[in-house]
Amino acid sequence: MKTRRFCPHCGRPVVKSRIKGYTFQCNNCDEDFYRFEVLRIKDMRIVKQLCQQTIRHERQNGCKLFSVYKPYPNTSKNMKQKEILVRYHSADVGFCREIWQAKPENEKANWLGYDTECGDWMFLSGGPYGYAEPEHSVPKEIEIVICNSDWIEYYRTGNDRTRFPDGFPTFDQACEKHWNTIRHEHLPTVGKPELVHFLEEVKPDNLCNIDNLNWNYNYYHNIDPDNLIEDGIRVSREDKGDFKTAFLMHFDYMGKRYHIVRYAQHHSMCNARWYMYAVVALIDGKINGNMYWLGNGLISNK
Ligand SMILES: [Zn+2]
Repeated sequence: MKTRRFCPHCGRPVVKSRIKGYTFQCNNCDEDFYRFEVLRIKDMRIVKQLCQQTIRHERQNGCKLFSVYKPYPNTSKNMKQKEILVRYHSADVGFCREIWQAKPENEKANWLGYDTECGDWMFLSGGPYGYAEPEHSVPKEIEIVICNSDWIEYYRTGNDRTRFPDGFPTFDQACEKHWNTIRHEHLPTVGKPELVHFLEEVKPDNLCNIDNLNWNYNYYHNIDPDNLIEDGIRVSREDKGDFKTAFLMHFDYMGKRYHIVRYAQHHSMCNARWYMYAVVALIDGKINGNMYWLGNGLISNK
């Protein structure tokens, strides 16, 4: 049931209309459209923006979240497969999904989508390089075998919520879960949105727009006395007090090791200093970019 057309209101894929005179319908908005009203593949940028807006709106207003895939009925014939081996390919944030590659021996589908909102697995037609359009939901009987990049089994999940009530934790969810076990020891007062807030307090008056943005988001330097941070466009190597980088805990996700680290940052236009908490992977013992940002803890803004 591929239409390659999208709802102009919510950005979700439309299906063929059952009402005479109309061509398409959106199951999410419960509305029917003429051919010229709907969005096409060439409008994909708008479609993704709409999808993001819709999902944000639905989340904020506590609506039941419909999958961006939901309009597609399951048309799969009797599948003989009992399991599908998959490995992670990429995140498609605009559509709130991840793209996974199925092990080639499955002749049916090479690509699967994982809906990060609903936790549903979906067959995709075409690969991630074009528009990977959802074909239908993975039948409940089939187990999804999450593998690392070498096809070594790591975790089993599937669409059957009685057997797999928790679905599959995304990387973000895994980071938050482990962070929650130690965050009370490390982040007593300041959390995620607070950094800009305390920089506002010490911001000079009458900055123009650009300076305003720079003040809040750009004048950050990592303090890295032990030379542990690899990506260092803006790194102060000198020791500004005792702001050593600390490795707080580690965990494994899909067979790879990640570390929760704390390192200090300072603002180059004032004396504000804070700790940055993040999940990182190490390459040759060095921190090579943040994989996931956990929060900030204020040291001082004086
Ligand atoms: Zn719609």
